[in-house]
Amino acid sequence: MPKNDLISALTSPLAEEGTAEQPSRTLVRVALPVPVHTLFDYFVPSDQVQPELGSRVSVPFGPRKLIGVCVALNPSDAHQKPRAIHKVLDSSALVDANLRGMAQWLSDYYHHPLGEVYATLLPGAARKGSPTTAPTQPAWQADTAPQDLARAPKQLALYEFIRQASAPVTRDTLIANGFSSALLNTLTKRGGLTKVEVPKSPPGQPAAPDTLETPLKLNSEQNAALTALRANTGYRTILLDGVTGSGKTEVYLQFIADIIAGGQQALVLVPEIALTPQTVGRFQRRFGNAAALHSQLGDNERWQIWLGCRDGSIPVVIGTRSAALTPFANLGLIVVDEEHDGSFKQTDGLRYSARDLSVKRAHDLGIPLLLGSATPALESLYNAKQGRYQHLHLTERAGGAALPTYRVLDIRGQQAKDGISEPLKRVIRQHLDAGNQALLFINRRGYSPSLLCNSCGVACTCADCDLPMTYHRKTAHRNAEHLACHHCSRQQGIPEQCTSCGLAALQPVGVGTQRTEQGVAEAFPDVPIYRIDRDTVRSARALEAQFAAIRGGQPALLVGTQMLAKGHHFPDVTLVGVLNADAGFASADFRAPERTAALIVQVAGRAGREEKKGEVWIQTMQPESPMLQALVTEGYSGFAARELAQRSAAGLPPAAYMTLVRAESEDANIAGQFLTQLAAQLTQQAAQAELTQVQIMGPVPAPIPRVSGRIRLQLLILSDERRSLHRLLTGLRDAPKTPSNLRWSVDVDPYDAF
Ligand code: ADP
Ligand code: ZN
Repeated sequence: MPKNDLISALTSPLAEEGTAEQPSRTLVRVALPVPVHTLFDYFVPSDQVQPELGSRVSVPFGPRKLIGVCVALNPSDAHQKPRAIHKVLDSSALVDANLRGMAQWLSDYYHHPLGEVYATLLPGAARKGSPTTAPTQPAWQADTAPQDLARAPKQLALYEFIRQASAPVTRDTLIANGFSSALLNTLTKRGGLTKVEVPKSPPGQPAAPDTLETPLKLNSEQNAALTALRANTGYRTILLDGVTGSGKTEVYLQFIADIIAGGQQALVLVPEIALTPQTVGRFQRRFGNAAALHSQLGDNERWQIWLGCRDGSIPVVIGTRSAALTPFANLGLIVVDEEHDGSFKQTDGLRYSARDLSVKRAHDLGIPLLLGSATPALESLYNAKQGRYQHLHLTERAGGAALPTYRVLDIRGQQAKDGISEPLKRVIRQHLDAGNQALLFINRRGYSPSLLCNSCGVACTCADCDLPMTYHRKTAHRNAEHLACHHCSRQQGIPEQCTSCGLAALQPVGVGTQRTEQGVAEAFPDVPIYRIDRDTVRSARALEAQFAAIRGGQPALLVGTQMLAKGHHFPDVTLVGVLNADAGFASADFRAPERTAALIVQVAGRAGREEKKGEVWIQTMQPESPMLQALVTEGYSGFAARELAQRSAAGLPPAAYMTLVRAESEDANIAGQFLTQLAAQLTQQAAQAELTQVQIMGPVPAPIPRVSGRIRLQLLILSDERRSLHRLLTGLRDAPKTPSNLRWSVDVDPYDAF
């Protein structure tokens, strides 16, 4: 529903049908899942239970029924003629005070309507009004024994088993102990047993204590880190800056054990779990009852875990970004693993950062926040440098393995057929001949990033996005070559001739994983090749199968995108080849060098994880690039220090605060006019409020100026003072009227900026 209709829904005659005023009735102010910064008032009819703050209520909204959260009771400035709510769904608060505070903060900080914040942070089942009672399952308890039971020894054994149990016994337990369902039914019919309902055990696959893994003996660096973590109490953010394989996870595990022993809960955020089931496995083997929260869960499962966290019955939760929004009865620690990872920032709707939210949350709860990474975000390094975060280091690999060495491979004037230069081929050969594996990293899927006309030089572009389409050869998954736009979902066949000049002279230009895979297959026919990217890996299971084969240890070549960079361990990889670092360093996005350096270090970290030492070769046409040089000679921290200095000099984050206002429309004029008007309004407000530090730039085209047929423009707002920026952004709530064919959004602390 467009915004203006929403406002009229509130004030329309429909909204005034409330019955005559009763003197002492309860009024509730409700946050509803609608895209406006307005809260809506209703009254509670006398036949309803009284809601609390944080109760869900079902209310009429225009002609519809919506479920919202009660955020104020009897507000002094209540609407004069409120409608009646339909139903109070929770007699006691579903959303506790902590979570309400967090929702309000998210709304204020990200300038997102409170009702939509709730729609993001409540699980689907909660939004649909599911009750908070836990689902039950049948269980059996013993009555007086039927006569002559001794004549049926099996029934007697079952009866005795149940009689001696301390609580009613579920069917699963009985079957696990060798009793059949048929036997259970027979005995129940004879009257020896009573069936009762018991709560289903909370999700999270509790394991028997005797199968739990014992903690490792820490090395001296890990020990020092753990001691430092234990040395304080209350709020602090600790950046655990540890090289790949330095045993950060073991430090988390042992610190979490303390927290659980103290009766508190721990939340662990990770970038991805669908693709790294071994991470969850490690926590489950250590703690027995660790629940995993991720996007592939069913509605009910997610709801039960959410409730289990809220009531305190689940001690440890491992989850992706949205797990940061879960309520906890008694949270004692938040860990953000791989804290530099871009997936912690949501890029649509409520554009929150799970890492930044965790800082706020830990601060409010007075608990520690542990950020771990081998390649910390510049934001985190900056905060550590400013003394806001405690900075702990792990400089060596836990198992004693050596870190890989870096080499810059100058390929100027060289042919790099299918992305691989001759010198790199020779190095690959040496490693394979020594019985080892090599990993080639190229952050581009498909065969070629473009299909170009050899005669006029025009590329085949997406009709909706104006950008070159990626050329894909046929594969096991898809029996035809095709073009795919990697910005929208458009796919099409290969044109016979150039759409611009009409000649049949189209040729793939540039290199993607598929082309490199083919190139190495020709150059190294004697070894298996594993390509790992989104086109070849469709599921966690497929990925596991690939990894199992690779861990077999025979000489092999791995070709892949950043999918290969995430937390996996390949003991026999001794060579990492980075094929196209230049493209990453050269991108227009100010965060691109940071992201590229982190990726290189993370991919490099897959090599030589055990006895075998690894080396990393970086192909480049710009061997003197100061960024590359800093990275290979001083490592990530040297690179980061240099990059941080540059960002400060340029007045960019983390030395300044940034917000993007994006607008998109099929009509460029509409988006342009809207942002121009908005920029003028903000400029005027900034002048009035004397917010001189705030710069408003634009409107300018977005980095991808047209996607799916919509023109995208943006305003960039920068300030070296967070408070001024936020004061100004509050003015966005009185934005100019939104034309119906325009979409616009605010992105505070954007991750993808240009
Ligand atoms: P990180 O999280 O820093 O990448 P991990 O915690 O995954 O590192 O540890 C890397 C490897 O080293 C794992 O195989 C882990 O079991 C092992 N490891 C960690 N700590 C120790 C230790 N103190 N002694 C022996 N091995 C260890
Ligand atoms: Zn497209």
